[in-house]
Amino acid sequence: MAKILKGAPVAAALSDALTKRVKRLKKNGIMPTLAIVRVGQRDSDLAYERGAVKRCETAGIEVRRFVLSEDCSQECLLKTIRQINDDSKIHGCLLFRPLPKQIDERLVCGALLPEKDVDCITSGSLCGVFTGSQTGFPPCTAQACIEILDHYGYVLKGKRVSVIGRSLVVGKPVSMMLQSRNATVTMCHTKTENLAARCREAEILIVAAGRAGIVDETFVSPGQTVIDVGINTDAGGHLCGDVRFDRVESVVASITPVPGGVGTVTSSVLAKHVVEAAEKQLGEEVC
Ligand code: NAP
Repeated sequence: MAKILKGAPVAAALSDALTKRVKRLKKNGIMPTLAIVRVGQRDSDLAYERGAVKRCETAGIEVRRFVLSEDCSQECLLKTIRQINDDSKIHGCLLFRPLPKQIDERLVCGALLPEKDVDCITSGSLCGVFTGSQTGFPPCTAQACIEILDHYGYVLKGKRVSVIGRSLVVGKPVSMMLQSRNATVTMCHTKTENLAARCREAEILIVAAGRAGIVDETFVSPGQTVIDVGINTDAGGHLCGDVRFDRVESVVASITPVPGGVGTVTSSVLAKHVVEAAEKQLGEEVC
């Protein structure tokens, strides 16, 4: 039986550490504040928003919501982003995507100041992840994978890690972050040959394909750690990951569940990034 790497203890540890940092910020007259920008009423956005608001408020972070209608104009959304940029009392911004088709997503994301980009939607933040500079923040989900591995004591240095998925939201950034921690990373995608073999030979397998159950017992080997990033809905309407937990759990050494794994940690990472953004402002003011 594998050790189940639950997200809740990781999220709790992150939140505990944040509470002290938020107190210090408030003592220095800074109220860490997150702006949430939502266009429309998509269920998945609303669910994530509820989790993020709860997590931030628990840590003492203020949340300001900017809600626009599904048919809002690009100019209106850009105006909101500029308003957030100009407001020194807002330290981080979460913008839900994808945006409606009348909006040029690249243009809107690019309008946000990288220092307020707590979920890596700007090219400035991505550049930070790829070059190792301190610009912006890595994507919360990619960071959540690293937080889980760190929390449960897995050493990344020198480890063979396979990552399924090469999106800019998860696969590519998490691969870069693992490499910067001296892991040896194999990035896999739909054109990868012998995908199951590439996965079996890894010591740590990170799955971010967005395909329910594509990883079964033929993709894994004894002793492995499996991080399942996927959030899908199965035929019965239940939340499930990219990994067939029922078939893989008896083979590997440890595995994250879905739900209750990576997704649980993501909003804590978001809160952490908001606090870090506010601390940077404090640092500037102290100097
Ligand atoms: P995405 O943009 O659709 O990218 C999926 C990636 O997986 C692509 O690079 C694709 O390869 C690869 N892929 C898809 N099917 C594959 C297959 N059968 N074999 C090998 N590679 C395959 O998805 P994403 O935005 O990265 O999200 C991935 C998953 O993470 C989704 O389930 C999403 O819901 C979940 N997610 C979770 C959180 C969280 O907080 N837990 C946050 C964000 C996303 P190609 O490049 O070749 O097409």
